Amino acid sequence: MTESPAARVWYPYTQMLDLAPPLEIVRGDGAWLEARDGRRYLDAISSWWVTLHGHAQPRIAAAIAAQAARLEQVILAGCTHPGAEELAQRLVALTPAGLNHVFYSDDGSTAVEVALKMAVQCWQQRGQPQRREIVALEHAYHGDTVAAMAVSAPSPFTAAFSDWLFPVHRVHTAYCHRCPLGLQRATCHLDCLDSLEQLLRQRGDHIAAVIVEPLLQGAGGMIVQPPEFLAGVRRLCDGAGVLLIADEVLTGFGRTGTMFACEQAHISPDIMCLSKGLTAGFLPLAATLCRDEVYAAFLAADRRRTLFHGHSFTGNPLGCAAALASLEVFANEPVMERIGTIAAGHARRLARLRQHPRVGDARQAGTVAAIELVDDDDGYLAGIGPRLQRFYLEQGVLLRPLGTVLYVLPPYAISPSELDFVWDVVAASLDQVH
Ligand code: PMP
Repeated sequence: MTESPAARVWYPYTQMLDLAPPLEIVRGDGAWLEARDGRRYLDAISSWWVTLHGHAQPRIAAAIAAQAARLEQVILAGCTHPGAEELAQRLVALTPAGLNHVFYSDDGSTAVEVALKMAVQCWQQRGQPQRREIVALEHAYHGDTVAAMAVSAPSPFTAAFSDWLFPVHRVHTAYCHRCPLGLQRATCHLDCLDSLEQLLRQRGDHIAAVIVEPLLQGAGGMIVQPPEFLAGVRRLCDGAGVLLIADEVLTGFGRTGTMFACEQAHISPDIMCLSKGLTAGFLPLAATLCRDEVYAAFLAADRRRTLFHGHSFTGNPLGCAAALASLEVFANEPVMERIGTIAAGHARRLARLRQHPRVGDARQAGTVAAIELVDDDDGYLAGIGPRLQRFYLEQGVLLRPLGTVLYVLPPYAISPSELDFVWDVVAASLDQVH
């Protein structure tokens, strides 16, 4: 291996040997990133799905700077600060009905850990301690910490730790392109819900919660589910008295075309996880929201009933200031229109590419569009992924296929012509990269 001068950083998710040196990015503006050598790259993945309005968005940058000069951090156990309080109120008003309590943490994985611990401890304290089991979907991804890996589907990400991961009930997801039952969406009756229904019938009173990525399973391959599937999961959870956790870490804040994906199924979960776009991608911050019934289980004078989960930077004032500034951008700029324009642009280009012989499936949820290639070698480690990524970078576009799944997930600042450029490059890759 040739030593790169920057080789003190251990880069995540990065091939260690024969690796191209990482791009050194020194500046960002709108949908663009600028490297040290002056080359510019269109960030068509919103830098790991976090950047919402654009890089270095001035209103958010200014809000963080002003907050840093006022109060950079305070412990959130026994203290609070105006940003944490105001953000909680805004999130409760914005999210689906009934999610009235906001527990802060640091990132998507910790938001999920908190949700799982909340669910299990809640049942213990509600007199049903046998409800400790969790149900998750095939192809799920919920993060890289240990409990988040346990609820994620087995994959190369989790393989080295399989014996550490607590057992989880795994049920079908609505992956229509590769239907687990071999059916067609046009004629099926969402029969994929049957496996959850059966499990809840047999084991419902031992189950604490079902966790889902609503509408869009991200790292599992940008799998888009019909909203009726999510509505069906909610109905089955209600029937069995089981909590529903919606992991909106990726889907929150407009990604799927509505502020939250749950809105499209007209449902409200019992617990919701938010991160990534929460701060418009400026700072790590997460929130786990829950309903009164969950919160009430922790309302006790007995200190053992506390939810003992607190990270050093829980509710960090800089993160809260960024999140509040992002919500101001939503309120004062035509963000939902931008989202609609991106969605329409994706739809137009997907319609053209759908006929390409290498395209097995083309799917979309709002600002997220994906193409699944026809390839013998599928899964995250498919050899084509790194070759495509290299091609895209040569063309000036930052894209990171998930194995044979190419996806475009841009910041909302992207213009129609910039988005067309991304799709031109994707279209060229289908003909040129094998
Ligand atoms: N949940 C979902 C749905 C995600 O997509 C991710 C991150 N890709 C996570 C959780 C974990 O978030 P983080 O990487 O911030 O820990």
